[in-house]
Amino acid sequence: MNRGSMINQFTYKTATFFIVNQNDMVMSVLYFPAGHFSHRLTKFLRFSVHLIMRPTIARVALPVPLDRLFDYKIPCHLTPVVGGRVSVPFGPKTMIGIVIELDTESEFGFDKLKSIHQVLDVEPLWPQNLYQLLHWCSQFYQYPLGETLANALPAMLRKGKPASFNPSIEWRITSLGREQFMQGFGRAVRQAQAMQMLEKGPADHQYLLDQDVPANILKKLEDKGWIESVEVKFRPKIDWTFNVEAEGDKQTLNQEQAVAVATVNNFAGFGCFLLEGVTGSGKTEVYLNLIKQVLENGKQALVLVPEIGLTPQTINRFRKRFNLAIEVIHSGLNDSERLNAWLSARDKVAGVVIGTRSALMTPFADLGIIIVDEEHDASYKQQDSLRYHARDVAVMRANKENIPIVLGSATPALETLHNVLSGKYHHLILSARAGKALPTVNKVIDVKGQYLESGLSAGLIAEMRKHLEAGNQVMLFLNRRGFSPALMCHDCGWIAECKRCDAYYTYHQFSDEIRCHHCGSQQKTVRQCQGCGSSQLVTVGVGTEQLEEQLSLLFPDFKTIRIDRDSTRRKGSLESALSSIRKNEFQILIGTQMLAKGHHFPDVTLVALLDVDGSLYSSDFRASERLAQLFIQVAGRAGRASKPGEVILQTHHPEHNLLQILLRQGYRHFAELALQERKKANLPPYSFLTLFRAEANQSHDVEHFLRQVRYTLEVHPLFKQQCQVLGPTPAPLAKKAGKYRWQLMLQTNSRLTMQKLLASAKPAIHMLPNSKKVRWSVDIEPQDLS
Ligand code: ADP
Ligand code: ZN
Ligand code: ZN
Repeated sequence: MNRGSMINQFTYKTATFFIVNQNDMVMSVLYFPAGHFSHRLTKFLRFSVHLIMRPTIARVALPVPLDRLFDYKIPCHLTPVVGGRVSVPFGPKTMIGIVIELDTESEFGFDKLKSIHQVLDVEPLWPQNLYQLLHWCSQFYQYPLGETLANALPAMLRKGKPASFNPSIEWRITSLGREQFMQGFGRAVRQAQAMQMLEKGPADHQYLLDQDVPANILKKLEDKGWIESVEVKFRPKIDWTFNVEAEGDKQTLNQEQAVAVATVNNFAGFGCFLLEGVTGSGKTEVYLNLIKQVLENGKQALVLVPEIGLTPQTINRFRKRFNLAIEVIHSGLNDSERLNAWLSARDKVAGVVIGTRSALMTPFADLGIIIVDEEHDASYKQQDSLRYHARDVAVMRANKENIPIVLGSATPALETLHNVLSGKYHHLILSARAGKALPTVNKVIDVKGQYLESGLSAGLIAEMRKHLEAGNQVMLFLNRRGFSPALMCHDCGWIAECKRCDAYYTYHQFSDEIRCHHCGSQQKTVRQCQGCGSSQLVTVGVGTEQLEEQLSLLFPDFKTIRIDRDSTRRKGSLESALSSIRKNEFQILIGTQMLAKGHHFPDVTLVALLDVDGSLYSSDFRASERLAQLFIQVAGRAGRASKPGEVILQTHHPEHNLLQILLRQGYRHFAELALQERKKANLPPYSFLTLFRAEANQSHDVEHFLRQVRYTLEVHPLFKQQCQVLGPTPAPLAKKAGKYRWQLMLQTNSRLTMQKLLASAKPAIHMLPNSKKVRWSVDIEPQDLS
């Protein structure tokens, strides 16, 4: 026992006293009359007194990039709790951290420690299961615990605000507004719509925004005195099991849907289900039915959707179906809304939480099911800080909570299929498209040696004309923004290159700029070759801007719209573009991947992928899987409402084996073949990868550091025969924003080996002399190898 806590015993007359000291303060005095105890009892008492001793040290996780906890003294008047926040001095600053352990001793010596300033929570912030999951994440993804926990909190809690609801704003109609209904709203359609929504009762500000009521309309109505806002301080809990399902557009389930619902419902405890079905096969309907059951059992549901999938339509479908509060968590929430949503789930005010990746870290009082829609989607993997895969961690969470999890997709990730084939996951299949839609007709156009008009072959142009003239819409995919991916001198071959990156500038005609898509640098378009001074600059390759221009020349009678990151920068512009497409205001739709997911356009009957060759011969082993998924997704866009659809692929390699299998036999056969290839090459899911990335101003520093990392791993006792290190090699983009980038890949035969080896080697890597000179990170099970 150190000086932190001491027990002194002395005898006075016929009694024995134990005096418990903690850090020179008398904490308690225990008195025992004489004759009552033997030597053994004395020892036992000493021991138990030690156990009940008040902790004097708090071990705190702070949001700093260090793999350790920090000890602080607990002043007498404070009572921190494990899993709660404290504010502490850290260097010259005050920081907020999470108490991980309470103790009576510190290895650093009591006198050297600083004291906690403030205790911010009287109870743990997270339910136990989630708290444990976050610890697991920190270990598995090799990310410091303090930062992991901080990342999982809404910003307001990170900043030390109390964990209680922030007042929210509600709108309601005034008596003046009521009178207005008699006179009508004239041509102000949007104002009328907003008034009609509010006529049913007061509504939350954020809810109205979610329902496509713009803030400026609310402002206008307020200025006219027709509506007013009120602050709502408390959120009422809703009667839970009473009538959770609203009378909405409920469907009678078809047999496969019914089997899927019954299978999951009849399952007690943890189970992972792959729900495989093409777009429109009724997966969402299955989710809704499962959630209904969960809510009726008095539990809550978590639904994860890809970044792009959180459309007003999706949200509405859930809102219309259930009478309970539904929280939507997405990047557009402000800090206070985010905190409210978090608390609403934790305190069981909300029945359902729908959200993108980060919603996985929402606490629940009583979680009953997790649903991961489009589970194959790449946006589930976080690409910086805690590089977690939300689908994988969701499975882990379901396991810890002992509840079922449903992974839905038309194109399951190969990892997921592998888990199905090996019997780890259950398989539920929806084989038919709900409603009357027919399967699409798939075609390949061999473009070898053909003249392409801005990337379009004559065959494709003819097909487009047929579909357009029949009054339908056509959708074209090209995964390249801008006018052209390069600008070249016709006389000497010079190409405009970004000085800070190992990459060409993309030419953007619309803004008359050349931009680097890697570091974001941009400048006015150069007019002269910087090699020979010639003014003969030509564009190389085709981007979406050029395609748009060309199409308006080819099809002057039809209107073209382009959907990419450039055209949808403004908030709300994507939504309004999508809604004008649905109204058939445009007939030709051009887009990058953004357009591929989750949107329903019943009048699209032809979809074409313009350039798939890059994916067939990419250095990234996942590229062909992604292409296959994109293909099936876009095929799902064609011909939904009983109009037959057609899908066309342009390629120089129509004979490519995987492509042939995909087109002739479908995704399932493609996936099985792709899995066999992965097995032969010992790639995931047959092995486990860890990618070390490093960058610095000097290339040799980076290379040298990764060489040392390699050596550290190879000499480690846990490094077995089945482990391999590849590299260091320059990253696919070897220079970015002025930094040189290298990579090192570790391949192991099991997750456990990987985890143990990394955990044990990491301190040594941190100690490497160059580790402070370079910026480096570890990506466990990377999805993107660039
Ligand atoms: P997915 O989520 O697989 O794309 P949805 O659940 O959105 O499929 O269903 C596609 C369309 O079919 C929706 O308009 C939905 O209302 C309808 N639908 C789903 N299940 C049925 C059913 N059993 N009977 C009739 N229509 C259905
Ligand atoms: Zn030149
Ligand atoms: Zn650049």
